[in-house]
Amino acid sequence: MAEPVTEPMSGAIPTRPAYQPAGVNPVRRLGSKYSLRLWSVRNARTLEWVYTTFSDMLLSFHWLWNLIGYHRVERPIVFIEKNVKGLLFDCRMCGQCVLSDTGMSCPMNCPKSLRNGPCGGVRANGNCEVEPDMPCVWVQAWNGAQRMRSKSNIETVQGPVDQSLRGTSAWLRVTAERANARRPAAND
Ligand code: SF4
Repeated sequence: MAEPVTEPMSGAIPTRPAYQPAGVNPVRRLGSKYSLRLWSVRNARTLEWVYTTFSDMLLSFHWLWNLIGYHRVERPIVFIEKNVKGLLFDCRMCGQCVLSDTGMSCPMNCPKSLRNGPCGGVRANGNCEVEPDMPCVWVQAWNGAQRMRSKSNIETVQGPVDQSLRGTSAWLRVTAERANARRPAAND
C-alpha cells in the first residue's frame, strides 16, 4: 500500500521526496557498475589461480622489496593495487584482503560492511536490502566460492577490520607475512 504523502508547510524544505517508487534505490548506481565485479565472481576459479600465481611471484621478489624497503615500494604498489582491484572487484582498499575467502566478491561493498556473511535482509531476487539495485555481495560470495578450489574458505571467520590499515597494500602485507612465516623453516 502506498505511504500517505504529507504536504510540506509553505516555505518549509521537504526532507524527502514526495514520491518514492517502490524498489528503487535513492542512491541508484548504474547497472554497469556491477558488471565487472559480477564477471570476477563468475570467473572466481581463474582469478583464484591468477591470484595464487601472482602472490607467489611477489613472494619470490621479497629480497628486492627488502632491499628497496617495503615502505618505499608501498606507494607505487598501492597505486597499482587500487586500480586493478578497483576495476575488477570495486575494491575499497581495506588493507586486509579476504577475496580468496569470499568467492572473489569484496565484502566491503556491503553497505553494512559485513565480513562474515549476509544480514537477514537479502531480497528474494538476491539483491541488497539497502541498495535494491545491487546484487548482495554475500550471495555473490557464495556463488563465487562454489567455483573455487578452496571453496570451504568461505567458512573462515573473519576478524574485525583494522581501520589503521585502510589504504595500505594487502599484497605487500601478505608477501611480508609469508616471507616471515617461512623464515624459521629456512633456519632449521
Ligand atoms: S577485501 Fe579489502 S582489500 Fe580486498 S577487495 Fe575488498 S576492500 Fe579491497
